[in-house]
Amino acid sequence: MNVRYVRWAILGIILIGSMILNYLHITAGAAFPSVHAICPLGGLENLQIWLSGHANLQKLFSGTMTLLFLSLGITIIFGRAICGNICPFGAIFEFIGKLTPKKLSISAHSDRVLRYVKYIILAIVIGMAWITATLWVSPYDPYVAYAHIWSGAEILNENGIGLLILLVVLAVSLVIGRFFCKYLCPAGALFGIFSLVSPTRVTRSECMECGKCARSCPMGIEPGRKTAVNASECIGCTTCVDVCPSKTPVIRMTIAGKTAKPLLFVLGTVCIFFGAIALLNTVGFLQVTVPPIGSIQQGGAPLNIMDLRGSMTIEEGAVYAGMDLAEFYRVMEIPKTVPATTPLNKVPNYVPGYDFHAMKAK
Ligand code: SF4
Ligand code: SF4
Repeated sequence: MNVRYVRWAILGIILIGSMILNYLHITAGAAFPSVHAICPLGGLENLQIWLSGHANLQKLFSGTMTLLFLSLGITIIFGRAICGNICPFGAIFEFIGKLTPKKLSISAHSDRVLRYVKYIILAIVIGMAWITATLWVSPYDPYVAYAHIWSGAEILNENGIGLLILLVVLAVSLVIGRFFCKYLCPAGALFGIFSLVSPTRVTRSECMECGKCARSCPMGIEPGRKTAVNASECIGCTTCVDVCPSKTPVIRMTIAGKTAKPLLFVLGTVCIFFGAIALLNTVGFLQVTVPPIGSIQQGGAPLNIMDLRGSMTIEEGAVYAGMDLAEFYRVMEIPKTVPATTPLNKVPNYVPGYDFHAMKAK
């Protein structure tokens, strides 16, 4: 069986599912998780404030931390399989790359140097998030821009730069396969670091050097030229194993030296990831949205003010914060003339310059 078709089908389903989730978040609001809350990198940005015992960064939840730890655990065992078999953003770049079979050739030296750029971006993203205690990269993040395409022209207000970067990266991906994953993605860099300790490797013995595996590798690794592929760059897609025409298995996906069948590896990593998510959700470790307002009204614990969302109306904010309405107006310094049905992020329509997020942090 051509495992790559199965993998593309899986990536296609995940991509469509993520698009629906993004659409629901934009159109139906806080009942559906934002892209920030379900990105493992968000968990790393949140780590410092989370360890200090404070509330989570704006737009993040305790479940974001769960996703970070789950993703790192999977990476430690299976390498960057999340990049190859699960990440919807990576899927976009792989599919876009299929539109143009001819690719630019980059010298081995430039390629090697450029692959370090993503580690620098990771250090900047995390450093700035920890220093500023905000999702500092959000306005420049092409993944956030992609997730907000459903907000129409509004995207230009908060994510205009991210959108521009997204368009550039998409265009370049037509001529350089998985350009973003190879050179720019901070999450890929994070997984790359943790995959160094993984027992999962693509290994190769003597072969006829037909070059098929090198031409088909979406990460441009040229597995056929190496006896063990660089674990921090390999995304565990198994394509090289799948396309190898040799009758004897010269190129193999291995876990702790044992051969893993490509189909089993792809399906296994996907099932383990989503199975763990289902389990963690069932036991209540995957809170990535605000709880329903009814649960607070029925005596549930109120939210920390830092965890209020801009999409909540003033009266909802008061309920979530466990305050009466008048107190909430006072604490948030909102003039009483602003209707209580106004979403908190729309208060500036009545009070120019009002900054809901700054007010929360006061
Ligand atoms: S490198 Fe980044 S965008 Fe690419 S697959 Fe990995 S996490 Fe996704
Ligand atoms: S080396 Fe093989 S498994 Fe790794 S990314 Fe390239 S094609 Fe996929």
